[in-house]
Amino acid sequence: MPVLFTSRADGVSAAPFGGLNLGDHVGDAPGAVAANRHRLAARLRMPVQYMRQVHGTRVVVARAPASPPQADALVTDVPGLALAVMVADCAPVVFESPAAVGVAHAGRAGMADGVIDATLAAFDRLGVALHRLTVTVGPCVCAGCYEVPAELRREVERRAPGSAGSTRRGTAAIDLRAGIHHQLTAAGVTDIAIATRCTAEDPELYSYRRDGRTGRFAGVAWLGPDA
Ligand SMILES: [Zn+2]
Repeated sequence: MPVLFTSRADGVSAAPFGGLNLGDHVGDAPGAVAANRHRLAARLRMPVQYMRQVHGTRVVVARAPASPPQADALVTDVPGLALAVMVADCAPVVFESPAAVGVAHAGRAGMADGVIDATLAAFDRLGVALHRLTVTVGPCVCAGCYEVPAELRREVERRAPGSAGSTRRGTAAIDLRAGIHHQLTAAGVTDIAIATRCTAEDPELYSYRRDGRTGRFAGVAWLGPDA
């Protein structure tokens, strides 16, 4: 039940998507995105299932490669099918257990609307006890870099307690890591890892807030052998 987070490394896309852009919705050359996706699948030696992400809370159970469903989380209990969530500042959240794995797209909207709880409910329906899950919150924009209007911080904190943060300048911010951690803990998940790399500060990662027109990296989970 391995996982990985991609970066710009080892890709073929040209600027401003430079590197391993996996997003086919950002204006990059389709051939370059296809080549990058092929590289990832070849490295994993299995097909990779993507989603058409809409900052929502829909979870899809994937059991065979299919055209990307409109969803913001995927789970599978089938070995040999990798699941990918694409991000550039939103948090890629990856769920592992011996019986099933999943990925979720948790930005401000998804976190506040409940994509984490929706994904955990899908594991519950598959018979996976939440205390058996290992959850990794991958690289995302840190609170220090995620300035928002104070009113928005208040609104998101009301719906995702613990998510209110401050920028390095002391202005209102959203702390995705803290908000998601709170949701996981409240649901009974105990094995939680939080990546410390910030997309907006790390040039090896794509950041929409930093660059605007840019690519997407991915959090990937699968049942089966290590890549
Ligand atoms: Zn940062």
